[in-house]
Amino acid sequence: MIDLEVRLEEPTSLPDVIALLVEHEGSAKVIAGGTDILVDMKNGDLRPKLLISLARVEGLDAIEVIDDALWIGALVTPNQLVADERLQAWLPALVDAAQCMASYPVRNLATIGGNLCSASPSADLAPSLLVAGAEIVIYKQEGEMRNPLSDFFVDVRRTMLGSAELLTHVVIPKPPPRTGIAYCPFKLREANALAVASSAARLTLEDTGAVSDARVVLGAVAPTPLLAARSSELLVGKKPSSELFAQAAAQASVESKPINDVRGSETHRKALVEVLTRRALEEALHRAQTGGAA
Ligand SMILES: Cc1cc2nc3c(=O)[nH]c(=O)nc-3n(C[C@H](O)[C@H](O)[C@H](O)COP(=O)(O)OP(=O)(O)OC[C@H]3O[C@@H](n4cnc5c(N)ncnc54)[C@H](O)[C@@H]3O)c2cc1C
Repeated sequence: MIDLEVRLEEPTSLPDVIALLVEHEGSAKVIAGGTDILVDMKNGDLRPKLLISLARVEGLDAIEVIDDALWIGALVTPNQLVADERLQAWLPALVDAAQCMASYPVRNLATIGGNLCSASPSADLAPSLLVAGAEIVIYKQEGEMRNPLSDFFVDVRRTMLGSAELLTHVVIPKPPPRTGIAYCPFKLREANALAVASSAARLTLEDTGAVSDARVVLGAVAPTPLLAARSSELLVGKKPSSELFAQAAAQASVESKPINDVRGSETHRKALVEVLTRRALEEALHRAQTGGAA
């Protein structure tokens, strides 16, 4: 049961949200789409006395191009991501990730900010944002700060955000030419299923066709999204080939740290990482060669 004693405030500005969070520290929580927090409250895992809705705060629900970067407001929904033509050209892997989330009605409610702030290891949006080198904008009483998304995740369902801090935007830099990014999750059903394991891969190619930059990030196989550093390094400076991708995928599997749970065993997840990483690298290469992300 959700505690009916909970009160709802709907401030219209970021300073007002922060003022409420400071005033009610320890008993207030921010709510965006509510698709995670209301489940936590229903399960009794969270009992806030005050919910502070972000819905009326202006400027958080748009996708804009500013200074050669794509700024995505924290309230942008997965369905908005899917429909945005600039994002389809710029980072199609994020569109794929948004498209495979949950179900259509949930994708209309959920937000990118909530997905990142929930910090579930199996969440779909973080891996492709991480390989793309995304940053986040954090708003607090002292002002705004911009941080790499790679610093954001601290542990299972824990981020670097303080109790009176908000994520306001995700900033995606324009990918360099000849860059391809792909996201491959494995889920037990087509709808309303979290990833058992996932892999996002990024490849940037030189004129010669060799890999000048590579990143592999794994989801659902560690407490936070995991950069497979050695797998990524192994790709740089080499010509892409099936053998190289098989080697990098096997290395990613070695670097993964999955657990056994209801959705999959450690062994199954390690095997999945190898397959998903190879597929993600192949798709990233295709996109890099055909201008998919540039
Ligand atoms: C049926 C179902 C299926 C799902 N399937 C998937 C799936 O396939 N893949 C997937 O990744 N997720 C899935 N989810 C999880 C969920 O939809 C996402 O994590 C969603 O993006 C969370 O966003 P929200 O706006 O609903 O967050 P909320 O529930 O409103 O908030 C989540 C948490 O983040 C905090 N928060 C929210 N916004 C901010 C902000 N801007 N700044 C600071 N803190 C903030 C809240 O205080 C709360 O702690 C599913 C959920 C359901 C109910």
